[in-house]
Amino acid sequence: MERIAIFPGSFDPFTIGHESIVKRALPMFDKIVIMIGNNANKKSFFPIEKKLKWIKQVFRGEDKIEVQTYDGLTVDFCKEVNAKYILRGLRTASDFEYERAIAQVNKKMHPEIESVFLLTLPEHTPVMATIVRDIIFHGGDASMFLPKALDFNEFMADNK
Ligand code: ADP
Repeated sequence: MERIAIFPGSFDPFTIGHESIVKRALPMFDKIVIMIGNNANKKSFFPIEKKLKWIKQVFRGEDKIEVQTYDGLTVDFCKEVNAKYILRGLRTASDFEYERAIAQVNKKMHPEIESVFLLTLPEHTPVMATIVRDIIFHGGDASMFLPKALDFNEFMADNK
């Protein structure tokens, strides 16, 4: 049976921290589906179609990776794509507490699904989408926090 994981998040925007988690997890799974959450209660800074385009651009040519958007529960998306694993990244103790609660609730409701966590690389610990977003919003150069495959000039032009 294929080992399929989903990597859910808001990716507002998709940073080098996210990219690194996906790349490091790749040898563990047959397929990783990156799920861009489209949560009505969580306002997104970047439009969902742009996020989809950028993440696809980052993983172009990597046939083990798919990118999709979803506006329902993560566990329901797992069923839809036949995934048994939810991949998440951990940076700090507060990430851990947040992730622990979600993973344990998910486990209670869907025992067949496992949450899998990778610790961030030390150099990616401070990389937060909120901060990267703020830099971009104020016209700063956030290119060092964005995946190399993303053309930053095009990315900025896309944001006008
Ligand atoms: P959410 O809004 O669901 O937390 P995010 O886009 O902020 O979505 O993050 C998606 C996942 O990526 C989460 O598991 C988060 O902890 C992880 N993540 C975010 N930034 C980093 C980073 N710099 N290093 C490792 N993991 C990260």
